Amino acid sequence: MKTVAIILAAGSGKRMGTSTKKQFLLLLDKPILFYSLKAFEESFIDEIILVTSPEDKQYVKEEIVEKYNFTKVTKIVEGGKERYHSVLNGLNSIDSADYIFVHDGARPLVDKDILERALEGVSKYKACVVGVPSKDTIKIANESGMVASTPNRNLVWNIQTPQVFDFQLIKEAYNNVVSREVELRANGVNITDDAMVLEEYSHHPVKLIVGAYENIKVTTKDDLVLAEEFLRRKIYEED
Ligand code: C5P
Repeated sequence: MKTVAIILAAGSGKRMGTSTKKQFLLLLDKPILFYSLKAFEESFIDEIILVTSPEDKQYVKEEIVEKYNFTKVTKIVEGGKERYHSVLNGLNSIDSADYIFVHDGARPLVDKDILERALEGVSKYKACVVGVPSKDTIKIANESGMVASTPNRNLVWNIQTPQVFDFQLIKEAYNNVVSREVELRANGVNITDDAMVLEEYSHHPVKLIVGAYENIKVTTKDDLVLAEEFLRRKIYEED
């Protein structure tokens, strides 16, 4: 069985409001991307495809992959305009695999237990996503900013990564969606995660797997404070 991770680090990180892209900001003196890669490097994963912007390729290669000796990184692939373009470039660079783990490089708190639960999930269901039951009540708004509806909180999850799939299943679904992207965009469809590609365009069921509330995506400055605190606790517990 061959497992390949696609780790995404080609975003511009605009919401962070810093000149350094968020995936390269330091937490406890190391780039955020370092922690995401470390979790996969130390796991059962066979190979890592790292996706980054053309202008960051050299930096990522020398200052992260080589510097910290991430030997499972076999390719550094260029990302695209949207997250799903970056995933597709990663998928198209893979010759053979059984399972694909797609992970946001900006989620440094992913850990061994999450990866193991996700592997178990994909072995059984062929498609699964990590997430946590929502602690908050969620409202769906209309275009005027008024409340349109309230989904039953017991059924609402906040979705994280990794999102894990059978290789052929996800590759076909992605290629299909991207070939119809103009039509989809005209219909207001915004693809923000991988499971959406299966839900909407191949109708393959996707299993929810419990991640961890700590497995946050570092998006804004507040998240940096939280992520650093969670990392400190994790390192302390490991010692
Ligand atoms: O933008 P968002 O927060 O959804 O990004 C999630 C992850 O996807 C980040 O790790 C980011 O670097 C990556 N990404 C990418 N290519 C893009 C946009 C986002 O690899 N075009």
